[in-house]
Amino acid sequence: MHVHRRLLNESMTYRAQRARIENRALQYETGRRASVRSGVVTIPVVVHVVHNPSTPAQNIGDAQIHSQIDVLNRDFRAANPDVSRVPDAWKPLVADIEVEFALATVDPHGAPTEGIVRAETDRTGFDSHDAVKAAASGGADPWPSDQYLNLWVCQLGEGLLGYAQFPGGPPQTDGVVILHSAFGTTGTAAAPYNGGRTATHEIGHWLDLFHIWGDDDGACSNDDRVADTPNQADSNVGKPAFPHVSCNNGPNGDMFMNYMDYVDDDSMFMFTRGQRERVNACLEGTRASFLVAHQAAPATPAAPAPETRPAEAQTPGYVAQDADVERLLHDTERLTREALTDIHDALGLVGHRFGG
Ligand SMILES: [Zn+2]
Repeated sequence: MHVHRRLLNESMTYRAQRARIENRALQYETGRRASVRSGVVTIPVVVHVVHNPSTPAQNIGDAQIHSQIDVLNRDFRAANPDVSRVPDAWKPLVADIEVEFALATVDPHGAPTEGIVRAETDRTGFDSHDAVKAAASGGADPWPSDQYLNLWVCQLGEGLLGYAQFPGGPPQTDGVVILHSAFGTTGTAAAPYNGGRTATHEIGHWLDLFHIWGDDDGACSNDDRVADTPNQADSNVGKPAFPHVSCNNGPNGDMFMNYMDYVDDDSMFMFTRGQRERVNACLEGTRASFLVAHQAAPATPAAPAPETRPAEAQTPGYVAQDADVERLLHDTERLTREALTDIHDALGLVGHRFGG
């Protein structure tokens, strides 16, 4: 939220983008617009391990990275075993987000990759000011953020477990940063943050989900703009007992077991249907590049190509068929139309807010 507010203050473009994104999310959330994507989308991931050689533990092993990808693929598919602990009242709300994650198999230059980049740094740690996201400031440069989800794993100060950038921000800092000891389930991962849920939470932000309590410091005045999550005063921490009532939200109280609260890893285990609508709005809006790449290259999962569009034409070993090209053109046309609609909507939203 700190990064979000800084960007809102500093950048007119970001403010305009956020208004547009929020307007689209509202249309999905209220059912005025329906999701058109079908099936599961797989997001190619690159993990940048930024480590100081004097602290070898920071250079986490491949197994720890794979353990994190496994957690994401359970949590975003509601395939996590602990989803059975969701209170009965909310079981009907549990949502399969239909998003999966795979370490990239092709790098931005078209070469094969494991999807893991290891970069040495002479810094002892990082904070939320994005130094880790650029080689020039002791970190590692992102891969094109419209084709890859960039995850940076490093030593973090300020008591941070991780932080994310919401959709609509600058591409060169787009992605998620996570403390190495709150990443994955093995290696340096340390209790109570060794369930891989920091990444689940932060990628929730990357897909446009807000904190479930609405970041209003206990005021009950703001919420997460998702209708099926109860209004809740403030964040919950540790391992709360059900129910925890706030903001007159009894009898069931806060949905503190939602991934977008602040509880321990072993105490969070659900996304809701309303949250899925926000994710769909994001994937069919600001982050539509992942859907287009995915739809056009079903035979080569996690194999986006760099730099140019249509990306698929450059993917090694992938020969575009006429039908693929036609579908891609159709998708592009549709997305352009939607972008124009969005601009009209955003203008309408601004007019409505400030004119009336
Ligand atoms: Zn958060």
